[in-house]
Amino acid sequence: MDTIYMDNNATTKVDPAVLEEMLPYFTEQYGNPSSMHRFGGQVGGKITEARERVAALLGCDAREVIFTACGTESDNTAIRSALAAQPDKKHIITSRVEHPAILSLCKHLEKREGYDVTILNVDTEGNLDLDELNKAIRDDTAIVSIMWANNETGVIFPVEKIGEICRDRGVIFHTDAVQAVGKIPMNLKELPIDMLSLSGHKLHAPKGVGALYVRKALPYRPFIIGGHQEKGRRAGTENTTGIIALGKACDVALQHIDDENTRVKALRDKLESGLMSAIPDAKLNGDKDHRLPNTTNISFGYVEGEAILLMIDQLGICASSGSACTSGSLEPSHVLRAMGVPFTFAHGSIRFSLSRFNTEEEVDYVVENLPKIIENLRKISPFSAQDSGPACTPRSTE
Ligand SMILES: *Cc1c(COP(=O)(O)O)cnc(C)c1O
Repeated sequence: MDTIYMDNNATTKVDPAVLEEMLPYFTEQYGNPSSMHRFGGQVGGKITEARERVAALLGCDAREVIFTACGTESDNTAIRSALAAQPDKKHIITSRVEHPAILSLCKHLEKREGYDVTILNVDTEGNLDLDELNKAIRDDTAIVSIMWANNETGVIFPVEKIGEICRDRGVIFHTDAVQAVGKIPMNLKELPIDMLSLSGHKLHAPKGVGALYVRKALPYRPFIIGGHQEKGRRAGTENTTGIIALGKACDVALQHIDDENTRVKALRDKLESGLMSAIPDAKLNGDKDHRLPNTTNISFGYVEGEAILLMIDQLGICASSGSACTSGSLEPSHVLRAMGVPFTFAHGSIRFSLSRFNTEEEVDYVVENLPKIIENLRKISPFSAQDSGPACTPRSTE
């Protein structure tokens, strides 16, 4: 049985064309782009091309793209830069459903470094209240950091409106677009976004490379200090192979963006409606209409998500769960909790995230096999429809 990989929001396969593009830079062309000789200089030219390719996907100027090591580094750099550039401003605004790359950093800044953080709530569909954002902005707000699309539910936030509010109030707006880049079209020239994070391994480039878009003329302070690489904005000898791969992945993503929003979306919809109609007590998590085309997050009531994952793993199906009952953490996903999903449903949540490499046969196979699995698990479930209390009780850490 071949692997059916439906966990693309966790990481993606390196596209064969991307691998091919990067390989020579491990072997024949291993030069350092900072060297004076042509051997290194050639690699520099290839990095320039990669920067232009990233800029083409984002709709920005190549000079506005800084290469980093990952999405997490881009997120940390954005927030630290805004704070360092405006030392008199001590307030940060973010949302309850951000990735830990933002949320854990903000909690750290609050606990250890004396910053004040406002965390915006979401409603039951995972949407923000923009009035709440408007009211939260203060004279000392240094940055608003709100993700473009949620990794767990796929819910897309209205970044244009958020950016307009921030621009009106003179506050820097950063968006974690790690899940959005390559999946939905974007044109940063026309959007009020000051900084944007992306990550290679979420769009068919390898792990260990990312980028941060920083709008021209925005005050910026580097996070990693050392050599003059990236025009002094991110020191350290370039991850040449990773950067070249990210450039190629962005180029390929641009060519496939329509496919993502038609064929991949149709596969996702087929999977979702097939499962929802065949399985009782199944609920969709997140705003159905404002979602990434590749993601569906479904709660199967009264079963444990990890049990589902173990069963489908036997069939070679990879997905992920918002529940981690058996792995030590008693809490279901912070995203589903923020949306007020009841525990008996939050624990049974499964995220399927597709890519252009998925096929209709794979979707059919999952729709054929999952209903039986859920039925069997429900027979032995510690939860039941009458008993609303979960086997593992939630613990509040926030
Ligand atoms: C994966 C992810 C990140 C982290 O990116 P890494 O490259 O793995 O560090 C940040 N934000 C979101 C929304 C993600 O999905």
